[in-house]
Amino acid sequence: MGLIHELPVELSNQIAAGEVIERPASVVKELVENAIDAKATQVLITVHQSGLRSIEINDNGVGIAADDVEIAFQPHTTSKISTDHDLFNVKTLGFRGEALASIASVSKLTVVTSVDGKSAVKAEFSGNSLLKKETHARSKGTTITVEDLFFNTPARLKYVKSLHTELNKIVDIVDRLAMGHPEISFRLIHEGKDLVWTSGNDNLQQTIAGIYGRTIASHMYAFENSDADYQIKGFFSKPDTTRSNRSYISLILNGRYIRNYQLANAVIRGYGSKLMIGRFPIAVIDITLDPSLVDINVHPTKQEVRLTNEGHIGDLISEGIRQKLSTKNLIPDAVKNL
Ligand code: ADP
Ligand code: MG
Repeated sequence: MGLIHELPVELSNQIAAGEVIERPASVVKELVENAIDAKATQVLITVHQSGLRSIEINDNGVGIAADDVEIAFQPHTTSKISTDHDLFNVKTLGFRGEALASIASVSKLTVVTSVDGKSAVKAEFSGNSLLKKETHARSKGTTITVEDLFFNTPARLKYVKSLHTELNKIVDIVDRLAMGHPEISFRLIHEGKDLVWTSGNDNLQQTIAGIYGRTIASHMYAFENSDADYQIKGFFSKPDTTRSNRSYISLILNGRYIRNYQLANAVIRGYGSKLMIGRFPIAVIDITLDPSLVDINVHPTKQEVRLTNEGHIGDLISEGIRQKLSTKNLIPDAVKNL
């Protein structure tokens, strides 16, 4: 008899979860991205014990139809893409259809969701098994509550760092998601304390003020540098307002926060010799391009992407910053509207 057999679905989901659900902040990222894709205008994130006890994401998006609730939690199920053409033209943050199944496989999860703002469905899962499904009432949108993350994967739980570190990672990901979506109001509450709040009034500089504070935001310059294929705009700090590492450079590509060493370098390059050695600027760079010019499907968390013409995009960024900094009588732009 052969030795090879198919893995039980719970186990394959846990393995998939190992790729994307590394820590509480990964759950926050995946669920908030789903809320953004669901066209929410308000997203409320409530966490306890740095997300290890519970993470709740409440959105006012389109909701999940009652008939779809169970399938949404199966692996490889999505409403976002259907064909290979779609895969190379992704306009949403999600498309892999993995997150809900993965999260549910390593936690106790409850979803309450309504499409019409009247009737709602409430479903409870534990380690992927559906425990209960009942009717409920709520306003339009979805609330997903994740409790006891990694309760059934002790090795993963051990790998989680201090509560302080895990909370910082959550704040960091909410900050970046919020900067990518100034049109959405985000609120993060930890143990009853407000940690992040953005107004959702579609103004990037006010969103930056909500995240880094008004003082920093009011010392930033706005710039724009676009051509037929790429629109680049954003804010960057004065050369004397710097940090000791490059993590304050946020790159947003079609509404998705990405990490990209070359493009972060392009920001630094734009300052020429105006930055002190070992100091890094604060910047938020918003890049818009045709989705067919970027391959998002290179990394499970999609924070690393493959870009056609990365060098050219970098040049647009550094040139835009360089030109702005060489303007005579330069006044920070954000001051006016804050
Ligand atoms: P993906 O986001 O890659 O499609 P997920 O597992 O994260 O995969 O979600 C599966 C599906 O569940 C989504 O395609 C979407 O249709 C639905 N869904 C998940 N979260 C929400 C939400 N907050 N609001 C509305 N629909 C949602
Ligand atoms: Mg998703």
